[in-house]
Amino acid sequence: MRDPVKWFGRPQGVKERWVCDLCGLPGNRYCPNRTRELYVPKVTGPVTTEICQVMQKVVVDGKEQIIAVWPSELAAFLHRHGMPVAQVPAYQAQQMAGERYFAPVIQSPVAGAVYIRRHDQLTAQEQQIKLQGATTNRVKRVKWYLDDKLIADSDQPYVPIYISPPAGEYVVTLVDDTGGSDSVVLTVEDYRAISETGSSSAP
Ligand SMILES: [Zn+2]
Repeated sequence: MRDPVKWFGRPQGVKERWVCDLCGLPGNRYCPNRTRELYVPKVTGPVTTEICQVMQKVVVDGKEQIIAVWPSELAAFLHRHGMPVAQVPAYQAQQMAGERYFAPVIQSPVAGAVYIRRHDQLTAQEQQIKLQGATTNRVKRVKWYLDDKLIADSDQPYVPIYISPPAGEYVVTLVDDTGGSDSVVLTVEDYRAISETGSSSAP
């Protein structure tokens, strides 16, 4: 009979270690939750060269706290899936030296996207363009600009806004409450202008 305990021996190159159960990398000194995993020390890559950067020590009103600071797109993803990641202290913009920060990211519109609007078929309301941003979870307020014009000032950074601009090329900018920003070019075209051009160039 085969000994059930000895049916599989761990190869010598496979070791055990503690990792952060938030991100799967070895935890930094502030990680409170750790989990045991098997790994291959000889494999070089992020899993052997990096450590968790999520848990960070921050100073809020003179007191140190350990909180999870997420990259912008991960923070937005977790928030949209019901994780309470936004319940952390805001940045104190005057005292951010050494604090972990991730710049905002515009997720919609996608850079370079062209929106074609059909005023012959749809109302302006029915063909609005979504502006959706991701910020790290310590950001509490964002402003949206269309070119240099302020179009929204929101204390809900993850909630999208909708706009209905006339045909034209615009720069959409998202600015967070620390001054970090992201911009994309938005092109809006009118279907009638495109279809006229198309018919005039047809053979
Ligand atoms: Zn981690």
